[in-house]
Order: sequence, then C-alpha cells, then structure tokens
Amino acid sequence: MSPRTHSEIAHDVIKSVVHLTEQRDELTLLRSLQASILEMLPGALASLICLVPAPERAGWILDDACSLPNPMFPIMDWLVTEAGSLSAEAPTRQFTRDGLSYLVSSLGIQDGHRKAIVMLQPEWYPADLRIAQGMLKIYTNFARALFDSERDTLTGLYNRKKLDQKLGELLAGRISGSNRQRDKDTADYLAVFDIDHFKRINDNFGHLIGDEVLLVFAGLLRKTLRDVDWVFRYGGEEFVALIKGVSPEVIVTILERIRGKVQDHQFPQIGQLTVSTGYTAIIDQQLPSYVFEEADKALYYAKEHGRNQVHDYRGLMSRGELAPERTLGGTIELFD
Ligand code: GH3
Ligand code: MG
Ligand code: MG
Repeated sequence: MSPRTHSEIAHDVIKSVVHLTEQRDELTLLRSLQASILEMLPGALASLICLVPAPERAGWILDDACSLPNPMFPIMDWLVTEAGSLSAEAPTRQFTRDGLSYLVSSLGIQDGHRKAIVMLQPEWYPADLRIAQGMLKIYTNFARALFDSERDTLTGLYNRKKLDQKLGELLAGRISGSNRQRDKDTADYLAVFDIDHFKRINDNFGHLIGDEVLLVFAGLLRKTLRDVDWVFRYGGEEFVALIKGVSPEVIVTILERIRGKVQDHQFPQIGQLTVSTGYTAIIDQQLPSYVFEEADKALYYAKEHGRNQVHDYRGLMSRGELAPERTLGGTIELFD
C-alpha cells in the first residue's frame, strides 16, 4: 500500500471529526471515536472498556452490562488495573508488554462508570501518538458539551430535553417491538414528583435554601432508585423518573419508599417536607407527551386529595376517580 498523501490524511481527519461531532448520544459517540482511531491508524487495534468500582478490591472491575463491544485483549486484568488507576491529571498511559505497545486512555467517569479506550500497535510512532491524542481531545471536549446540554445545571440530573428523547426512544422501541416487555407482569413506568408547598420554602427561607433543598431532594431520588432507572429534573421543583421493568406491586413499593424517605428526612434549615407523586405505565401511548400528561393527572389528584401521596393514573381511571375531561357544555373534550 502506498503511503497516504497529506491531503488524504487531512481528508480522513476532517471526515472523522465531522462524524464524531454529528453524534448526539454517548454510546454512538464512543463508537465513532473507536472507528475514527481505527480508520486513521491502520494496523492498530482499539477497544472500549467500561469499569465499575469494586470496593472489596479497592479498585475497578470490568462491567459486562455496559453496552460496549467486548474487548479481546490477552492481558485484560492488567489493562483493567491500568485503566482504573488513570486520573484526570494523567489520563493516558503507554506501556509495552509481550512485544506489543499499548496506549490506555481514560474517557472520564459518568454515572459511576469509568470508560477507557485501549489502543494497541506493534509500535507507537510520535505521529500516530499525536493523531490518537488529538482525536481523544476532540472526543473529550465534545463529550463534555454533549453532557452539559442534557443535564440540569443545579442538580446534575438529566433535563427535560433528555426526557423527551428517552421517552421517544422507549415508545418507538415498543411500537417496533424491539424492546417489547418479555415478562408480561412487569412494565416501564414514568413517575412525576412535585415537592409540596415549595413556594413557602422560598418565601420563608429564601431562594438559596430552596436551591439547597432541590439538591438534597435530587440526591435522595438518585440514591433510592437503581442505576438502570433514569432521573430527570423536569423544571422548578418537579422531577421525573423512568423506572424500568418492574411489577405493579414493586412500583408502588419504590415510590412509597421515596415518599417515606422524603417525609423522614431532615432537610438543612427547613426540617421536614413532603412530596406528591403521580405515575403511569408506559404501554402504548401515541406520544411521549401523553405519558407525562397521564402521570401529571395522577399527581394533580394527589395534590387535590391532601398531598404527600402516591397515585397511579390507570388505577384512578379504572376506579372512576379521574373522569374523562369535559367541556363546560358537558361533551367530552377530544382535542385539548
Ligand atoms: P404545591 O404543593 O401545590 O406543589 O405547591 P408549591 O408551592 O410547591 O407549587 P408552586 O407551583 O405554587 O410553586 C413552585 C415554586 O417553585 C415557585 C418557584 O418560585 C419555585 N421554584 C421554581 N424553580 C426554582 C428553583 O430553581 N429554585 C428555587 N429555589 N425555587 C424554584
Ligand atoms: Mg410544581
Ligand atoms: Mg410543588
């Protein structure tokens, strides 16, 4: 193969950067980084690894549940140790083992998972190193921008835009059947949480204390839910959770546990507060907004009936406690 010209290399670099910056979610962004490195360094092997903390070992272990392609390196245990010991100050490490030259680079920690890329060549020339490190820098900068654009700045939870996207994906998957629930007894649920009388907290203690309460509340939600559940700040003092694959009994247990934990928590300065919750199963709603509206109606019911309660939209409907919406003339409102 004849050596590539400068303009061919420049063309490849531009193509890779364009492809990388077209991505809008973390997984496709990671795959695009891997593809760029493989394309620009013919002869290299590049693989993504995903680690979770292992407190009993005071280190990290490979997480099989992470949806990244499985690496096939012969010295995996050692690579995991190397990748786990990377830090923000020293995000990349290079070493040679059994005649092969490895480059391990941290891609940061998100939601408790550490991601790293392992690249392997018989030998790393300075020009190759510059290409790999340049692509990693572009990736890191872009990943940070992407991360910021889908997070709420106060709590660090996902924002409303991300909720629309996740809910859209979930419903699209259901309609196409690709992630249809295999177990008929379980479903995915959307829950809306709204702190009771939050305005009083701001009025009596000031906005800064109000913000502190929102932060503590966000932490309680995140800690009580599982890693696989998604938590969002919808706006103001309203939060949303997507809780995956649980039975009707378990969803009540989870949401009641959150209600109880909030009620029992001593919030700094203000003491106690309560939260009202409405939820609905994500089944066959035509639009993401319909799912939210159902849970919101159940939440409204909780507010109207004394607050500090958890209500299920479908339960309320089947018991006739939520009437179909009517216009003032008494006819059913079909289009609102
Ligand atoms: P309810 O029990 O009916 O939910 O009453 P509430 O007082 O919680 O509800 P309301 O919607 O009347 O008030 C919500 C308040 O939340 C009003 C607004 O000032 C406050 N708020 C919204 N966003 C923020 C924020 O980012 N920080 C703080 N500190 N307050 C916020
Ligand atoms: Mg509200
Ligand atoms: Mg409120």
